[in-house]
Amino acid sequence: MKRSQTINHLDTHPDQEWDVVIIGAGATGLGAGVDAASRGYKTLVLDQHDFAKGTSSRSTKLVHGGVRYLAQGDITLVLEALQERGLMMQNIPHLVKNQKFLIPNYDWWDGPFYTVGLKVYDMMAGKLGLGPSVHIDKETTMQNIPNLQEDDLRGGVIYHDGQFDDSRLAINLAQTITDNRGFVLNYAMVTGLLKDDGGMVSGVIMEDQETGKTYEINAKSVVNATGVFVDEVNKMDNPESKPLVVPSQGVHIVLDKSFLRSDYAIMIPKTSDGRVLFAVPWHGKVVVGTTDTEVKEASLEPRALDEEIEFILANATQYLAKPPSRSDIKSVFAGLRPLAAPQDEDEETKEISRSHKIIVSGSGMITIIGGKWTTYRQMGEDIINKAMLIGGLDEHECVTRHMPIHGYVKNVDRTNHLYVFGSDIPKINNLISAKPEYNELLDSRLPYKKVEVIWGVREEMARTVEDILARRTRALFLDAEASIAMAPIVARLMAEELNQDESWINNQIEDYTLLANEYLLKP
Ligand SMILES: Cc1cc2nc3c(=O)[nH]c(=O)nc-3n(C[C@H](O)[C@H](O)[C@H](O)COP(=O)(O)OP(=O)(O)OC[C@H]3O[C@@H](n4cnc5c(N)ncnc54)[C@H](O)[C@@H]3O)c2cc1C
Repeated sequence: MKRSQTINHLDTHPDQEWDVVIIGAGATGLGAGVDAASRGYKTLVLDQHDFAKGTSSRSTKLVHGGVRYLAQGDITLVLEALQERGLMMQNIPHLVKNQKFLIPNYDWWDGPFYTVGLKVYDMMAGKLGLGPSVHIDKETTMQNIPNLQEDDLRGGVIYHDGQFDDSRLAINLAQTITDNRGFVLNYAMVTGLLKDDGGMVSGVIMEDQETGKTYEINAKSVVNATGVFVDEVNKMDNPESKPLVVPSQGVHIVLDKSFLRSDYAIMIPKTSDGRVLFAVPWHGKVVVGTTDTEVKEASLEPRALDEEIEFILANATQYLAKPPSRSDIKSVFAGLRPLAAPQDEDEETKEISRSHKIIVSGSGMITIIGGKWTTYRQMGEDIINKAMLIGGLDEHECVTRHMPIHGYVKNVDRTNHLYVFGSDIPKINNLISAKPEYNELLDSRLPYKKVEVIWGVREEMARTVEDILARRTRALFLDAEASIAMAPIVARLMAEELNQDESWINNQIEDYTLLANEYLLKP
């Protein structure tokens, strides 16, 4: 997957008409790209920044049916998500794993409610279930999570869901698109739409963010999969278009593993504001969140509010024997949910359905809103079914239900730090054999190695230090301070690969340090 290949293709085929051009390379756009390319359509996916720069690198990292949506009675969404959870376990086994969750029971009525509710959840997953939920007593609960707050604890319920690495999956989806002869391009901003004589959308105008060069790209169908930015793109189509989404911010904090000395994740069904709170083990740390705060503006780098951090700390303190404080936070990250704008003014964002919706404008642009990472495949199938109709494409059936995603390896050894690379591990080991220095760590606080920088640049279209530290590795999200210490080494390694000079190196280190400082809490 090389950026120069896509650019060369665009330069040498200026008149090509693509079957499908997709704006946005998060979970939604990449899922649609995989669906389109694997059906044999000429497919191009563009992103203004890097793959998964937006919401898709900032999730809770769960592949889940959504116990909460079940409690809200959104049966259709839960059924769909449980199906997709099962398919993701089958098609992406190197990145998606079965995660045990424990719901501690501190109130006498919670236990029975969640035992029955979770039995329904298990039944709904059918053959694709990950294991039965069980009610356990206080002693077993404490054995499973020794540093759970013991006061007033009565017992717990264990259930299963999936867990994954969101931006690594985004990269693997992009690779799956190119494996299927499609094209992807990061740092490619769509700045306008092309229309034919009848006023129908017939392509996009794209500006290469690296060179400033503009491309007019013709397409039979154009998909707007830009998450919280869909309204901006819709305005390019029709300046009068009404807002379709409201951004709702969710914040997570990352703590050291010592705060949750267990392989179990904790799920708190109801916090003080009625939301669900998760504490999930992830890459040797614990991710705790999230919040739900309506925000006015869409942004690629949303900032956590102080009250959101305090809310998470206060709630975590109620359940963890070792209470976390601000100084324990290794990283804090915020993401924006692209929720369908509520019909009713009083509707709260946590009540808005997470189901996806596809809207076709009068001029034929296909916009998708809502959805979850977990349902990315189904969303992709639905979008491309629509594109087939709107773009008059030859009919080809969707083939993604049982299609392995790039990196597919069964029973990957998760004790090997490189496990997220799945079937690419041997190629990465070859790089190390050729140059043993690549086996060195970037910083002693995290397990990332120099070889991951080289691989990221050569094979995963990483262009900046941020691409490597935030989304090819997850250093920024796991330990922002350690990631800042890595930046100079990463910049040097990248400069050699990309043929860049000293001033590029200095700019990259400066830009990255500025950005990563926002993931650290000020004392
Ligand atoms: C806090 C939080 C926790 C979540 N947790 C989970 C979870 O645990 N499990 C789960 O299943 N789901 C979860 N979700 C939901 C899931 O993360 C989102 O549904 C999904 O990531 C949205 O993907 P997207 O592709 O629609 O949007 P995005 O990832 O935001 O992608 C949109 C892309 O469009 C690009 N773009 C915008 N404008 C342009 C333009 N003009 N030209 C080119 N590109 C453009 C952006 O750069 C961006 O990369 C969570 C969401 C949040 C906010």
